[in-house]
Amino acid sequence: MAMKERSVDRVVGNLPNNPNIKDQILKRQRDVFEKQGLPALKDLERAKFQEEIHIIGLVNKITNDLLADYGLPPFDIPVQNVHVILQDKWMEDNMRGGNYLQFHEAILLKEVPYIVFARMLMHDMIHMKFHNAVQITTGQNPRLTTYRNGIYVVTRDGKTRQLDTLNEALVEELTIRYFPRLLEDPVFTADIRHTEKIMERVPRDATLSGGGPLSEVYYAYLVPEKEPQTDPPPPSVAPSVGGRINVVRSQRFVERGILNKLIGKIFKSRGSAITEQEDVFRVFARAALTGKILPFGRLIDDTFGKGTVRKFAELQNDNKKEEDFVNNL
Ligand SMILES: [Zn+2]
Repeated sequence: MAMKERSVDRVVGNLPNNPNIKDQILKRQRDVFEKQGLPALKDLERAKFQEEIHIIGLVNKITNDLLADYGLPPFDIPVQNVHVILQDKWMEDNMRGGNYLQFHEAILLKEVPYIVFARMLMHDMIHMKFHNAVQITTGQNPRLTTYRNGIYVVTRDGKTRQLDTLNEALVEELTIRYFPRLLEDPVFTADIRHTEKIMERVPRDATLSGGGPLSEVYYAYLVPEKEPQTDPPPPSVAPSVGGRINVVRSQRFVERGILNKLIGKIFKSRGSAITEQEDVFRVFARAALTGKILPFGRLIDDTFGKGTVRKFAELQNDNKKEEDFVNNL
C-alpha cells in the first residue's frame, strides 16, 4: 500500500449541487499536506534546528511502530508539516504548547527544550495518525467542519463535540506508553540530566499541584524568583541555575483518570472474558487508530447496558459530569 498523502482519511456528507465535492476536498487536503504554504505563520515560526529535525524523524519512527502494533501501514509526517512557533508568538495563553490542525495538515508546536518538544510532538503526531474525517454538515447552511479525530466526533449538524475527553486521554496514554522508547537517543541526555539534578531536591512523596505523583514529571526547570515567565526555556536559551522549581508533566491528568476508571470497570465486569486490563485499552486505541468504533461502543454497551456510550457522549466533555457518570456505572 502506498503511504498516505494526507491525514484526512474521508469526507462525510454531501452537497446536492456538487457530486464531486468529496473528491475535491480530499484533493485539496493532499495539496495542503504536500505544499504546506501557510503564510499566516510567516512571522510566527522559525527555522527548525538540526536537533528538532532529528527528533521529528525519531517520533515518526516510534509512532509508525504504534501503527504497526495495530496492523496499520506507516505514515510519515514530513518535516515541513511541523511548525516551530516562537515562544512570544504563541497564540494561546495557556500552557498547552501543541496543536494538530486537521484542515491545514500541520502540527504547530511552541519552541521548548528538546525533550518537551519530542513529547508534545508525539502527542500531536498521534492525533494526526489517528483516523481523521471531515464533514459537510447537515441543515440549512452546510459547512465544512471536523467530523472525527480518533473517537472524538462532531455531530452531523456541526453543533456538538463528543468524546473529546476519552480521545485526549487515549492520545496521552499512548504517548506515555511509547515515549520511553525515544529516551535512549543522545539528543535528550542534557535535558534528562538537568531534570534529574533538579528533582533530587524534591521529596519523593511530593504531589503535583494539578494532582498525581512525581512520576508524571518528565522535565524540570528553574524560574528566577522575580520572573513571571513560566514556559521552559527554548533550546537557544541556557536554563536558569536558580529560582523556583517548575515541571513539565504528562498532560490530561483528569481525562486520563476518567478513561482509566472506565477501563478498570469494564475489565472487572467482564471477568474471565478479557485476560488483562490492557486488552480493554487496546480495544479503545484500535477504534481511534482505525476509525472502526463499533467494537469500542459495543464493549461499553454490552458491559453497562444499551445506550451507555450515547449517554456518556451527550455529557459533552464536562469532566465533572463524566466523572460522576463513570463512578455510577
Ligand atoms: Zn491532544
